[in-house]
Amino acid sequence: MNPKATCMDESDPQALTVEQALERILAACGPVAGTQSLALAEALDRVLATPVTARIDVPPARNAAMDGYALRAAEGQTGTRLRIVGVSAAGHPWAGQLQPGQCVRILTGAVVPESADTVIMQEQVEAEHEHVTLQREAAANAHIRQAGEDTRGGEVILETGRQLTPADLGLLASQGIGEVTVVRRPRVVFFTTGDELVPVGQPLQPGQIHDSNRYTLRALLSRYPVDFLDYGVIADTEDAVRTALNQAGAHADLILTTGGVSVGDADFVSRLLQREGNVGFWKVAMKPGRPLAFGHFGRARFLGLPGNPVSVMATFSLFVRPALLRLCGTTPEPPWTLHARLVEDLRKNPGRTEFQRGILAQENGEWTVRSTGGQGSHQLRSMSLANAYIVLPRDSRGATAGETVEVIPFQSVF
Ligand code: AMP
Ligand code: MG
Repeated sequence: MNPKATCMDESDPQALTVEQALERILAACGPVAGTQSLALAEALDRVLATPVTARIDVPPARNAAMDGYALRAAEGQTGTRLRIVGVSAAGHPWAGQLQPGQCVRILTGAVVPESADTVIMQEQVEAEHEHVTLQREAAANAHIRQAGEDTRGGEVILETGRQLTPADLGLLASQGIGEVTVVRRPRVVFFTTGDELVPVGQPLQPGQIHDSNRYTLRALLSRYPVDFLDYGVIADTEDAVRTALNQAGAHADLILTTGGVSVGDADFVSRLLQREGNVGFWKVAMKPGRPLAFGHFGRARFLGLPGNPVSVMATFSLFVRPALLRLCGTTPEPPWTLHARLVEDLRKNPGRTEFQRGILAQENGEWTVRSTGGQGSHQLRSMSLANAYIVLPRDSRGATAGETVEVIPFQSVF
């Protein structure tokens, strides 16, 4: 490598920072209109269009947190001997009334009889036939789960805009709620562009490469509550791109493309959009992924990603993901970051924030991170090997082994 190249300043006064680009994209993306009613079992990852209010107290009744004996705390002194007069098991409450000197065998989750106000663990009594002798004091309310301790009837348990998690589905089920109103799935059309691209399964002729972005995009999109439609590879001609965009612009909420957004002769996406769409072309001060197009075409939002596969993934994680989540009706969280000890030197030129691909690991209780090696934006292997971005700030010239660096785990952005 030319040693001079490694200290070249890559700053461009016209470039937006990553934060500025994201701010503009988010400002232009709101939830799509339209809702649907869904059975709970179908609702994972969908976004609530209305808040949900608890219908009942959960737990509905006081119940035992342990296997043991229910009694009156007034008789809970160590050494007290009580007669077992019944059993309260989960689903089979004991309907009687405790009299002085009595207790009830109780199992976890079973309703605590109204006349009892404490539960003593079975390990803390000596049991013989029909009697127990307390080995410890039983304090009032011990080992009892109070009614409504989880949720109270009437309180809002999930807000509009909530993307439903497995825990949320369980919470709704605990309320007996079997249906939710969610935002409809946004329609996403995507296509790749490039005369050099050949679908998998077809042999390569000289100058051709396989279309990998299509598979990456499809896989990335499948993790969001969207309906996506793959238009395939669109040729580098104005007509082909125009036809695809017109068709997508008529019915999609979001169009995603890869390639053709630079200023080369074959970059029809940018040329066409400049003339016929309402799209801005940005240079974003990041690496990988400098050129990015954003705006409208027809009724759809448009996001034109670079062609290089690593840039596609980087711009997807930083810009498409939040835009998608907004369209889906929820508010994206900023990526979660960690700090990790770098185990080798990393170099970069000042001027762009770099998202180098790293391998994050835990060694003796400490997070460490190393590079995946070659960082070219065409080197998709770097993404495949990595589990995190190493974020190197715009004006830095790299980082040295032993330094603490900021890391974004892939789990938080893909
Ligand atoms: P472009 O922005 O169209 O000039 O593309 C930049 C680079 O990314 C070129 O080397 C393309 O061959 C490559 N590229 C573009 N689209 C794809 C794709 N769908 N799959 C793999 N590589 C691509
Ligand atoms: Mg191209």
